Amino acid sequence: ATPTALAVSSGRGSQLGILVSGPEALESTRSIDTVVLDKTGTLTTGVMRLTGTELSPADFDVLARLESRSEHPIARAIVDAAPEIVGTGSAGAAATESVSTGAASTEPDSMGSAEDSARAASARSVETATGSSVTEFENIAGGGLRATIDGAEVLAGRPDLLRERGIAVDYPTDSIPRGATIVALAIDGQFRGLSFVSDEAKPTAKAAIDELHSLGLSTVLLTGDNAQAAEVVAEALGITEVRADVRPEGKVSVVSELQGQGRAVAMVGDGVNDAAALAGADLGIAMGSGTDAAMAASDVTMVKSDPQQIPQAIRLSRRTLGLIK
Ligand code: ADP
Ligand code: MG
Repeated sequence: ATPTALAVSSGRGSQLGILVSGPEALESTRSIDTVVLDKTGTLTTGVMRLTGTELSPADFDVLARLESRSEHPIARAIVDAAPEIVGTGSAGAAATESVSTGAASTEPDSMGSAEDSARAASARSVETATGSSVTEFENIAGGGLRATIDGAEVLAGRPDLLRERGIAVDYPTDSIPRGATIVALAIDGQFRGLSFVSDEAKPTAKAAIDELHSLGLSTVLLTGDNAQAAEVVAEALGITEVRADVRPEGKVSVVSELQGQGRAVAMVGDGVNDAAALAGADLGIAMGSGTDAAMAASDVTMVKSDPQQIPQAIRLSRRTLGLIK
C-alpha cells in the first residue's frame, strides 16, 4: 500500500467527518454496486412524534409507563405525548402541571422552551406514576416491549408481535395515517387499540440518494418498520427496492442474499439491530449519532450523521484507490 495516499485520504476524510477504520475498508469500496440503507435514524431524523391514538387516557398512561423504560425513538414519542393525552388522570399532580405547560406550547414564540419543559414534565409524570410497579420489563428486539404493570401483563409493539402471542389484533387498514409506524397495546392478553408515530426524512436524504444513483449505485431501503411506512419514505427519496418488516436477525440475511446475487454491498445503519448486517456487508457504514454497537461493527463512521456523507465517502475511497493503483 501507499501510506501517503491513505494519510491524504484519511486527512480529507476526517475533515469531512468521515472516520475510516483502516485501509482495508477503502479497498472493498472499489467494487460496491449496491447501498442498503436502514430507515429510522439513518435516512429519517429518528425523532418521532405521536400522530394519533385510539387508546383511552388510562390505557395511554399504561403504554407510556411501559415505554418510559425503552430507549427507542418510538418510546420517546409516546412518553413526550403522555402529559397531553393522560391529562389529570392517574399520573397525578405532575401530569396536571404538564398539561398547562402543553397549552403554552400553542404560542409560537415560546415553542422551543415550552416543548422542552413539556418533555421534562412528561418525564416527571411517568416517573411519578411508575413508582416501582413496572416489573419484569423485557425489551423484545425489533418487536416491542413487555412488562408487568400494577399486576397486569402489558405488551406493546408491532401488531404481529401481539398476534404471535395469540392476541387478536383487528383494525381497518384505512384507519392508519399514511406512513405511520403502528404501536399496538395489549393488557392481560386483550388488544386495547393502536397508537401511531412517525418521523421525517432528513433534509439531505433525497440529494444523497440522487447522488448515489448518479455514481451508478443501486439503493435498497431495509427496515424493521411496516411496509407502508417504508414505502412512503422510499417513494419520497426515489428508492425503488424496499425490504420492510425485517426482524433484526433478518437484516444480515438480506445483505447476504444480495451478496449471493453477486452484488457487492455497502450497508448504512445506526442501530443495535443493524450491527450484524453492518459487519456482514462488504462495507459497513455507521451513523455517528447511532449506537456504539453499530459503529463497532462498521468500517466507516459518518460523524455528522448526514446521508450526504455516504456518496462523499464512496467518492473519497474511489479517489484514494486511484492514487494507490
Ligand atoms: P428500525 O429497523 O426501523 O430501526 P426496529 O428493528 O428498532 O426498527 O424496530 C422494528 C419495529 O418494532 C418498529 O417499527 C416497531 O414497530 C417495533 N418496536 C420496536 N421497539 C419498540 C418500542 N419501544 N415500542 C413499540 N414498538 C417498538
Ligand atoms: Mg435505525
